[in-house]
Amino acid sequence: MHERTIILGGGLAGLAASLYSTAPVYEASNKVGGVAASDTIDGFTFDRGIHILQTQNETVIKLLKDLDVNMFEHSRHAYIYSFNTYTAYPFQVNTAGLPFMLRARCLWNFLNRGREAEPDNYQEWMYRTLGKGFADTFLIPYSEKFWTVQPSEMTFEWTGNRVPKPNLWQVLRGAIWSRQTNIGTNVDFRYPVASAGYGAIASAMKKKVTKINFQHRAKTIHTQERKVIFDNGKEVSYDTLISTLPLPELIRICTDVPDNVMEAASKLHTNKIIVVNLGIDKPNISDKHWVHFPEKDVSFFRISYPHNFADNVTPKGMSSISAEVAYSGDTPPDEEQLVKRVINDLIRVKALDADASIKLTMTKNIPYAYCIYDKHRKASLQIIHDWLKSINIFPTGRYGLWTYFWSDEAILSGKSTAEKLLKLEKTA
Ligand SMILES: Cc1cc2nc3c(=O)[nH]c(=O)nc-3n(C[C@H](O)[C@H](O)[C@H](O)COP(=O)(O)OP(=O)(O)OC[C@H]3O[C@@H](n4cnc5c(N)ncnc54)[C@H](O)[C@@H]3O)c2cc1C
Repeated sequence: MHERTIILGGGLAGLAASLYSTAPVYEASNKVGGVAASDTIDGFTFDRGIHILQTQNETVIKLLKDLDVNMFEHSRHAYIYSFNTYTAYPFQVNTAGLPFMLRARCLWNFLNRGREAEPDNYQEWMYRTLGKGFADTFLIPYSEKFWTVQPSEMTFEWTGNRVPKPNLWQVLRGAIWSRQTNIGTNVDFRYPVASAGYGAIASAMKKKVTKINFQHRAKTIHTQERKVIFDNGKEVSYDTLISTLPLPELIRICTDVPDNVMEAASKLHTNKIIVVNLGIDKPNISDKHWVHFPEKDVSFFRISYPHNFADNVTPKGMSSISAEVAYSGDTPPDEEQLVKRVINDLIRVKALDADASIKLTMTKNIPYAYCIYDKHRKASLQIIHDWLKSINIFPTGRYGLWTYFWSDEAILSGKSTAEKLLKLEKTA
C-alpha cells in the first residue's frame, strides 16, 4: 500500500496534522490522545497526569469551539505544601503563612538578587531571577524531584512563562499579609465539560480525522525505500512521513541511521512519571485543583483532584485524587509499594483522611513525560532533525520536537507541519 503522506501517532499533534492535511494516522494503541488521553474505570476518569487548558491562542480556541468541545472555565485553586503548611501558589508571592525567618530570607535575597554573573544554567538563573531564598527553599528541591536531574545540569531557555516571575511589590505584599494568586499563565484555565476528562479534546478531534488506524505500532522504518512496517505485519510506503513519536523511539526503528545521529539520540532524556490515581467514597474531599510538594520526604511532586475539574469524572457522591511521582532510569518503582507509600503520604499531609474509604486504585506509567533541557539537547536535536529532513521525515509534537509543549502547542505544531507540507506539495 502507498500513501503520499502518513502520520505516526494519534496524540494531539498527530490528530492536528491529520485534520489540516487529511493524511492518515497510524496509532500504536487502541485510542487517541497519547499523553493527553484519559482513562475511565468503574465510573472514575483520570487524566495521564494533571491536564488543564491554559491557552490564549485564538486558533486553538476556535478549533475547539468548531469541534463542539464545551469547556468549564476555572479560576485556579493551587497550593504548595511545605513546612507543614498549605501556601497559595505561586509560593514567591504568598509566603505570609510561612515561618518569619524564612520569609525574611526570601525577601532579603529577592531584593539583593541580580548581582550574580550572567547565568549559565537553570540553578544560576533561579538565583539571579528570584534570589537564593526562593531558589533554595522551593524551586531547587522541587526541580530535583520533578526533573530528576540537578537544575545546575539544565539550561533555562524553556522557563519563559513557565516559571512565574513576580515584581518586588507582589513579593513584599505576599510576605506581609496578602494571599494573591493572580500571577502566572494558568490563573484561569479551561477543562472539558464532558465526563471523558481531558481526553474529550482528542476524542472530538478524532471525529473529524479522515482515517485513523489503531493498533498499528510502527516497528521498522526502511528509510531508503520509504516504507513503514507495523507490528501487525502491514507495510505502507510513503513519500513523506510526519512522526510524533519520541525521537529516541523514532531513531531506534529507523534503518541506516548514521552513527552521529544514533549518538545524538542517546543523549536525549525525559523524566518519567507514575500517576497513582485513587477513587474515594466521599464527596468533595477538597476544593483545591492541585498542590505541589517540594519536600523530599513526600513521594509525589504534585497531586490534583479531578472531581474539581468537571462533573461526572467520578461516580455521584465521590471524589478522586491523582498523585504524580517522577522517576529516572529504566526501571519504574514497584507499583504496589508505591501505592502504599502514596496513600501514607497523602494521609500525612492531610490530603486524605486516615479512615478514607478508597474505592479504586489505578496507576499509569508515563515513560516519556517532560523533555529535559540539558546541555546536550540543542546540539543533539540539530543533528537528528537535519538527518530526518534529508530522508523526508518531519518530526512534530512535544516529543518529535523534544520540547516543553503544552497541549495547545502540540496541536499548533501538528497544524504547522501539515501546512508546511501542503505548501511544499503545491510548489513541487
Ligand atoms: C504529566 C503531564 C502533564 C501535562 N499537563 C499538561 C497541562 O496541564 N496542560 C497542557 O496543555 N499540556 C499538558 N501536558 C502536555 C501535553 O500532554 C502534550 O503537549 C501533548 O499531549 C503532546 O501531544 P503529542 O501528540 O505531541 O504527543 P503524544 O501525546 O505522546 O502522542 C504520540 C502518540 O504516538 C503514539 N506512538 C508511540 N509510538 C508509536 C509507534 N511506534 N507507532 C505508532 N504510534 C506510536 C503514542 O501512542 C501516542 O498516541 C502534560 C504532559 C504530561 C506528560
